[in-house]
Amino acid sequence: MGIAESIKTIKKELPSGVKLVAVSKFHPVEAIEEALGAGQTVFGENRPQEFEKKAQALQGRGIEWHFIGHLQTNKLKMVLPYADLVQSVDSQHLLDAINDWGAKNGRTIPVLLELHVAAEETKTGFYEEEILDIMFRAGSYKNIRFCGLMGMATNTDAEEDIRADFGRIKACYDYLRDLFPEYEDFRELSIGMSGDWRIALEYGATIVRIGTAIFGERQY
Ligand SMILES: *Cc1c(COP(=O)(O)O)cnc(C)c1O
Repeated sequence: MGIAESIKTIKKELPSGVKLVAVSKFHPVEAIEEALGAGQTVFGENRPQEFEKKAQALQGRGIEWHFIGHLQTNKLKMVLPYADLVQSVDSQHLLDAINDWGAKNGRTIPVLLELHVAAEETKTGFYEEEILDIMFRAGSYKNIRFCGLMGMATNTDAEEDIRADFGRIKACYDYLRDLFPEYEDFRELSIGMSGDWRIALEYGATIVRIGTAIFGERQY
């Protein structure tokens, strides 16, 4: 299936109100152009340099850019000028640095907090109690808009493990929404990738991040 056809097929299955992020990492600008031609306007990238290059090359094309990868604080200037949403805030240090950058540049940066639930130690993110602690202090981050949670399930074929991970993220999301109703922007739940997005929908995903199922295998 080509890029345009894949996008149309996926969009047909997505309930209205669920946002599709086309994850274009490792794919050339031409692939993004093709997706744009099919009406896809939201794209995700995970490496700062590649993100900056593509955002600059495609400036003025009406793209909503999401950053979804690990972000080091010395790379903020490659990402924050272009990012409409930073989905992958995974440390206190990064959160502080983004807030400082926002203050210096007169911007409020929309972010998702990344919750670590997967079995892999290598995956990044906060634990539930750390996110709770941040949310109690959310009002002090004047240049950050807290828009919800992002999470990745364990990379496995065992569906019950994926369901357990998504269930945990959804439970944390519901808990925070109940506890902090004053943060009305806190409403996004970004879960689900090529292999598990249909399951993620059952757990209330509002954003799915799909790469391979749209653009094909990545050449690393
Ligand atoms: C690469 C990536 C995706 C997309 O993965 P696919 O399996 O290719 O759909 C989604 N989320 C994050 C954080 C990623 O790094």
